[in-house]
Order: sequence, then C-alpha cells, then structure tokens
Amino acid sequence: MGSSTSSLVFKELAIDGYEKVVEVTDKESGLHAIISIHDTRLGPALGGTRAYPYKNFDDALTDVLRLSRSMTYKAAIAQTGTGGGKSVIITDGEKSEKLLLAFAEAVNAFEGEYICAEDVGMTLTDLGVVSKGTRYAVGLPHPKCSDDPSPYTVFGGFRGIQAACKHVWGSCSVKGRTVAIQGLGATGMKLARSLFWAGAKLIVTDVNSAKCSQAVKEFGAEVVNPSEIYGVECDIFSPCALGGIINPETIPQLKCKVVAGIANNQLLTDDDGVELKKRGILYAPDFVINGGGLYNVCVEIYKEGYSPTVARKNVDQIYDVLLKIYSLAEEKDQTTQQVALDLAEHNLEQGIGKRTEPVTFHH
Ligand code: NAD
Repeated sequence: MGSSTSSLVFKELAIDGYEKVVEVTDKESGLHAIISIHDTRLGPALGGTRAYPYKNFDDALTDVLRLSRSMTYKAAIAQTGTGGGKSVIITDGEKSEKLLLAFAEAVNAFEGEYICAEDVGMTLTDLGVVSKGTRYAVGLPHPKCSDDPSPYTVFGGFRGIQAACKHVWGSCSVKGRTVAIQGLGATGMKLARSLFWAGAKLIVTDVNSAKCSQAVKEFGAEVVNPSEIYGVECDIFSPCALGGIINPETIPQLKCKVVAGIANNQLLTDDDGVELKKRGILYAPDFVINGGGLYNVCVEIYKEGYSPTVARKNVDQIYDVLLKIYSLAEEKDQTTQQVALDLAEHNLEQGIGKRTEPVTFHH
C-alpha cells in the first residue's frame, strides 16, 4: 500500500480469509471508512462504496466483509476479470467534498488494487467528486463511462427470471405469470416495467406509498402492505429491496414456486437455501442474477472503452449461467446456492476468467 503525506490514518485489520481490510480515518475531513479486499486472484478488486449511518464500527465491518466476499463470487461467476472488494463510509448522510476527496485519497493508496463505484448512499454526483481525486473509480456519468448500472442489473434480473420460468414451467415466457415484487426503487420499478410489458401480472409493495401508486397507475399492479408480500399467491417472488429476507420467519409464508430478485444477500443463512429446496421453491442465487451491473461496469475498463451493445451481450449470459446452475442443482440434488458457490470457487481456483489485459480508465 502506498504511503501518504496527508492526514489520513490507515489501520490494517487482520481478517481470516480476506487479503486486505483497512480502516481509514481522517480527523480533518471527518472520514471514517473501511476498504475490504476479499480476493484478487482473478483481477483487481472492484466493488461499490456504500455510505451509511452504521450504528457502530462492528456493523460497518460486518457489512463490508459480507459485501466484498459476495463481489468475489459475483465476479468469478461473471468472469469479468475482477476480484472482490467493497468499501463503506460511516456517515450520517453528510458527505462534504473534503470527505469524498479524502476517501479518494484512501482509494489511491491501494494503487489500483481496489476500484470503487456507486452503491447505496452514494450518488453518481458523489462518485463524480471522488473521481476528481482518484482514477480508480468506475460507473461515472461521463461520456466514456457506463453511468447508472440499474438498467443492466434489471435486464440481468429479467433474464434470470426467464431462465427460472424455462426451468420450472418449460417456457421462458413470463406472460400470464404472477410476480410479487418487494421494493420499487432504482431496480424494482424498472423490473416491474419490463415484466409488465412482457405480460406478467404484478403484486407489489414498498414502504414508500408514492411508488406503489405509480405501479398501480403504470402497470395495474395490486398493492399489499410490506409485511404481506411474503404470503401472497404468486409464481415468482422477487426481492428487490433488502437482504436477509429469506429466513425461518418468511419461508413458511411463501406461496411461490420461484424466488428470483435483485436484492443482495437474500438468504439470511445458507440453511435457508436448503429450506427453500425442501419446499420445492427454486432460488436464483442473488450474486448470479444481480450481476448485470458488474458486467456492465467492467465493459468500461476494456481497452476499447465502453459499449452498451457489448454490455447488453455480456449481461445476457446470465440466462445461460442460471439455466446451468438450475440443472446442475437438480442433477446433484444440491441447493442452487451451493452449486453457484462451487462454480465460483472452481473459477477462482482454476483462474477461469482471470484478467489478461490491464484495466484501462477512460475518464
Ligand atoms: P433502491 O434504494 O433504489 O430501492 C429500494 C426500494 O426498496 C426503495 O423504493 C425502498 O423504499 C424500498 N424498501 C425499503 N425497505 C422496504 C421494505 N421493508 N419493504 C418494501 N420495500 C422496501 O435500491 P436498488 O438500487 O433498487 O437496489 C435494491 C437491492 O438490489 C439492494 O439490495 C441492492 O444492493 C441490490 N442491487 C442493486 C443493484 C443496482 O444496480 N442498483 C445491483 C445489484 C444489487
């Protein structure tokens, strides 16, 4: 790690199974962040920066460790030539330019081993400020960059749902299928739109009632209270808001055949994947179905620069990857989560999808 002449203080934390986890503090700007690099065997660690008012340091650490590990598996499956990393900024919402530039300096200290991007609590404007201080930032609203990942994440989510339909009902069509969507934010609302135009019937929920009203007006969706979404009669339950929502409390309520959504870390524990399997519910592993944004942003770092058509083609692979995972799980009598994790581990061990050309930054 490069040295710095600034007021930043770096404290490396020894965490088993992680390559490098560093707490960064800066009295001058008020920055308190953690950058976690889980695995770089396939390429430099790339993952978003989450800015969140964590209750305490341990919560922030748990989150960044969990998220950076997921990025390793997501990238290994997607074969993007990147590794797993993530960062969190502990903040109550106030993100001054000084703080964002101090964060940029922290990223610079990793000398390209970690590349940051947008995540919860960080706007593209915030990321734009970060990019003034570091080149190791991607997904910017710059003419040569990939911009907002959500349309690509949603396209991947839609293709993943189609793959589940193909596996369970023999046709990839969602026409006439009932999909229950939890969360109508940047991804959930767009997914609802794609499903609506493809002929699906929608049941939706969000804590923000204006979003529900929009879904009623635009898609003729049925609205239920947030606590009721798990128990609705539907073909597909699509979590697009929170993590940990597939758990011992919610699983007995489910009346769907498929769980396929965009939220990260949907299973509270891997045992919940086992329970879904026992009940005959097909689960689309989140780190596979929601990889569209990563595929997209990784096109930006190609030597040739970003191309939406290449990104679309890459994201489209999610359909085939998931079909393979669903079939293998059936063949091996394992959970889809286990099969996906094994596939990711295999790629990591064998160097499948390892980066062969240097990362190029175009901004
Ligand atoms: P977002 O913040 O734009 O939307 C989340 C929505 O969920 C909001 O409308 C919010 O009001 C709603 N919500 C919050 N709590 C809820 C609850 N208890 N019940 C119902 N609705 C609730 O976020 P997003 O970008 O759409 O991401 C959603 C999830 O997908 C997150 O877990 C995120 O990490 C994951 N994800 C997003 C992307 C992406 O490209 N944006 C990529 C991969 C994974």
